[in-house]
Amino acid sequence: MTVSFEFFPPKTDEQRQQLDRTVDKLKVFAPRFVSVTFGAGGSTLSYTPETIRHLREQHGLDAAPHISCVGGTRAEIVELLQRYRAMGCTRLIALRGDLPSGMGALGELRYAEDLVRLIRSEFGDAFRIEVGAYPEVHPQADDARADLRHFAAKMAAGADSAITQYFYNADAYFRFVDAARAAGVTQPILPGIMPVSNFTQLRRFSEGCGAEIPRWLGKQLAAFGDDAEGLRAYAADVVAELCRRLLAGGAPELHFYTLNLARPTLAVLERLR
Ligand code: FAD
Repeated sequence: MTVSFEFFPPKTDEQRQQLDRTVDKLKVFAPRFVSVTFGAGGSTLSYTPETIRHLREQHGLDAAPHISCVGGTRAEIVELLQRYRAMGCTRLIALRGDLPSGMGALGELRYAEDLVRLIRSEFGDAFRIEVGAYPEVHPQADDARADLRHFAAKMAAGADSAITQYFYNADAYFRFVDAARAAGVTQPILPGIMPVSNFTQLRRFSEGCGAEIPRWLGKQLAAFGDDAEGLRAYAADVVAELCRRLLAGGAPELHFYTLNLARPTLAVLERLR
């Protein structure tokens, strides 16, 4: 079983220590790569580069930065990519990103497809490019068909593989992969897996990104109330079962959204051993 892990860039010393502890525990699963998210709205205040450098130098991991295009100019993005090249990065997660509401016009690059083209035209094949995919349809898409068309165009623009938004319904993933193959997409599509540690937080995230928590699962998780241990164990069983189905159905590998916590992801991985 091949895995990768996603982290967010810590901002305080306490968060940095927590990330180190999490990485130490997850490293034993020999991730193919780890990735670090990127805050929307420009590169200058980002902690992503320092986190990438830390994961590469202190932990010896193939750390890949997420890079989003809506907040920055072409020149800013190229400069950031040059920094990543100088650090030895050979892999990127290329995204459109989301501008905070009320924050002005879009930048020079409107869609992830534009970013993929920019990376290929400026850097050739220096980076392996992963892009985002939405088995349950991107929340701003006109409709599912338009979303698939845009996804296929983004892959054709030069992406090497895709990582999905998280989902708890394996059929959504299988149907999406079938539809993508029919639309000419040949590259791997890695399922993104979100282990559960906090139901309130998960519900809030899911509303924002358009991921569905199936009714039965929401009802079961809500019933645990303050019983965090019970919730985590139940959710780990459900997510491990989802992972088993995905792998049995042909998913190439698993990408875990860790939220910088070791326990929820470890609980799933231990059930899969
Ligand atoms: P795109 O592929 O550009 O698609 C965005 C929307 O535009 C879709 O509705 C699509 O159908 C539509 N569209 C695309 N092309 C066209 C076109 N030519 N004409 C009309 N419509 C079009 N966000 C962050 O800010 N930081 C992160 O680090 C981050 N990491 C992520 C990691 C993963 C694996 C995923 C799946 C998402 C991540 N996101 C992150 C969230 C992401 O930025 C948002 O979901 C964003 O709204 C869309 O990004 P995208 O790259 O998928 O967009």
